[in-house]
Amino acid sequence: MVLEIKRLLSKGEYIGKISFEFIPQKEELLIPLCSFDGAVSFDGEYEIFDDDEVELRFEITYKLKGQCSYCLADAEKVIKFSSEVLFVTNKGDIDNYYYDGVRLDLSKAIGDALLFSQPDVLLCESCANAK
Ligand SMILES: [Zn+2]
Repeated sequence: MVLEIKRLLSKGEYIGKISFEFIPQKEELLIPLCSFDGAVSFDGEYEIFDDDEVELRFEITYKLKGQCSYCLADAEKVIKFSSEVLFVTNKGDIDNYYYDGVRLDLSKAIGDALLFSQPDVLLCESCANAK
């Protein structure tokens, strides 16, 4: 997913919403014996500032299913994860995401959110309750 920042600016759309779904790659899943069930939903809001920095607040939602990490019974869990990130045009700013001021590619930020949002284990209901 790419935001055409220059085009949005020329249309005066400094603030806007973005929503889409995508199918994640298997390699993006860290928990053993488990898989993504369906697509990841992305819901976000961007704001472009005067200095071309872009703030993005978003939430991703997806479902994991597979075997319980403790007892191997069927298990599933819906994950919701919110994040707020800043895209800057200064390559030296390592605390934020870099973009060239023209086209802003969301893939890295979304990939990171997908990794950060994953639980260490996937538990079935009874194991989750026994915890
Ligand atoms: Zn279990």
